Amino acid sequence: MRRRDAPVNSEDMMDSVPGATLEVGGLTQLTTLDLPGRLSAVVFCQGCPWQCGYCHNPHLIPRGPGDRSWSDVLRFLERRRGLLDAVVFSGGEPTLQSGLGQALRETREMGFLTGLHTGGPYPERLARVLPLVDWVGFDLKAPLEEYARITGVPGSGARAAESAHLLMASGVDHEFRTTVDPSLLDHAQLEKMTRWLEERGVMRHVLQRCRPAPAGLSDPLDDSVLLDRLRAHVPGVEVR
Ligand code: SF4
Repeated sequence: MRRRDAPVNSEDMMDSVPGATLEVGGLTQLTTLDLPGRLSAVVFCQGCPWQCGYCHNPHLIPRGPGDRSWSDVLRFLERRRGLLDAVVFSGGEPTLQSGLGQALRETREMGFLTGLHTGGPYPERLARVLPLVDWVGFDLKAPLEEYARITGVPGSGARAAESAHLLMASGVDHEFRTTVDPSLLDHAQLEKMTRWLEERGVMRHVLQRCRPAPAGLSDPLDDSVLLDRLRAHVPGVEVR
């Protein structure tokens, strides 16, 4: 697991920059998958403070300029008024960028619903943008004490927990999702996560397949006995 040399999770280091714009690393023009039940565009925000080994978008991890400007995205959205329901901000980690709040405001002013994908590395920033989002997909990575094994960043589990609690208390519609890499999460760890959600009254947990299981490892998501056990804790466990 790669680790960064310097602390990267300080929200003080990322204080709001008035008028900051959003660095965009990619755009999906139409999907029905990223905000359930809605026709959406997905804006992939550049930069992430974590370094998960299974990351599907490693080109979005480095901070810095993306490959298109936010004003390009706004021009695209202008042409999609009435055709799309929502715009989902994904990443990377959208809450890393101080321009996220303004981008969410502009998106809503155009009449779109707003969605956010986050792992919760910046709880204070998340709290500031929650009033601007209609739905959140929260990426719950592991039992909290084991986060660093996946993210490569010490303390990331505590930050994710703080963000998850903020989200649950906010009243914003949301879903907890977990990418299940069979080499990183086993049956016991999945059950521990589901129990953590159960204790907080969460009724839905989406388990996403990561990739084919390495030789010699079975995919926990193929184990119907395990899935039944998880559903005894959280009835809405779904494999996607
Ligand atoms: S949090 Fe998401 S975007 Fe960041 S490294 Fe992990 S999987 Fe990739």
